[in-house]
Amino acid sequence: MTVSIESLGTREERDELVRLRRDFHEHPELGYEEVRTSGIVTERLQGLGFAVRTGVAKTGVLGDHGQGTRGLYVRADMDALPILEENEVPYCSRNQGVMHACGHDAHTAVNLLTSSRFAGSDPGARLRFAFQPAEEGGQGADRMMEQGALDGMDAALGLHVWNSIPVGKVAITEGPAMASVDDFTIRVHGVGCHAAEPHQGDDPIVKAAGIIRDLQTIVSRRISPYDRAVVSVTQIEGGSAFNVIPNEVVLRGTVRTFDADVQRTIHDRIREIVAGKGDFDVKSVTQVLVNDPAMCRLVRKAAEAVVGPENIIENEVTMGGEDFASVLAAVPGCFFFVGSAGDGGGFPHHNARFDIDERALAIGLEVMTGSIRNWIAEGAG
Ligand SMILES: [Zn+2]
Ligand SMILES: [Zn+2]
Repeated sequence: MTVSIESLGTREERDELVRLRRDFHEHPELGYEEVRTSGIVTERLQGLGFAVRTGVAKTGVLGDHGQGTRGLYVRADMDALPILEENEVPYCSRNQGVMHACGHDAHTAVNLLTSSRFAGSDPGARLRFAFQPAEEGGQGADRMMEQGALDGMDAALGLHVWNSIPVGKVAITEGPAMASVDDFTIRVHGVGCHAAEPHQGDDPIVKAAGIIRDLQTIVSRRISPYDRAVVSVTQIEGGSAFNVIPNEVVLRGTVRTFDADVQRTIHDRIREIVAGKGDFDVKSVTQVLVNDPAMCRLVRKAAEAVVGPENIIENEVTMGGEDFASVLAAVPGCFFFVGSAGDGGGFPHHNARFDIDERALAIGLEVMTGSIRNWIAEGAG
């Protein structure tokens, strides 16, 4: 890391970031159960004199501050994962089987300290600090939007600590940055019978095997090599005994893309493959996360001032999904990655030994603060 941590914020701010993050880490809560976390958030936002709305999508909190014609949504997610933590650290999870293994503890801490920086005087725009529940598959972003969280907002910013890149680096990707995530189920129909007399039935196991094989030709034969996509079958369920051909086999899996047209093409092709053999049912977990180029430039300017232009990564895309994609489909914005892998590398997100290099907290605070200031200045000029 080339940037000096002592140059980022005050000593009190850096201590407070670590204290808050460790406190959230010790007390992780699953999606829509973030009662303790949102209680702390509410108290702090009220203490700053913000107009606070609680209970948005159950445990979500919104803190509004400032006057002006333009509104900016600054979002952190608060939820943890159902993972038994294997780290041996003083701030290890005290909630057995629940763990902040994605870094949302860091996001909540950074967003609180960022909000503090704009308290007191009028920033000259309407800032809305959003603390969202249930990012991990719970579609908390969508549920908050349904309850008006984004009403009156013109732009949005969010960040994720990111262990795929070292601390001291910031990744800002214009355009598609995170994949669409679909969860699909295929019910393969058949007619059960004695395994010794297969001609008397209609074997769904053999049909399922054919479907799985054909699904693997979609990306390789139907999708342009210039597009990125994944089709994975992850679950197979069927049969109850060695001598019985079952009535049905259920397949489950996921589709990932970076483009809505590619996603539609894949769905159509799956339907063709399954036609006459079963039913295909797909639900969207998250859409493609698309960053607005102009908003990326504001963030980039801020990040360059914090870590230097040589530490900006421009094309960090991931097949993982993120529900902030729904926010960015509604208003222009930027979701950026703050490098958080320590000197030893660091474990991947959702791993039982995931942890971050806490220097990422102060970097996140500075880059987010700078980005908000750049956005405000752009409107004033
Ligand atoms: Zn995650
Ligand atoms: Zn996450």
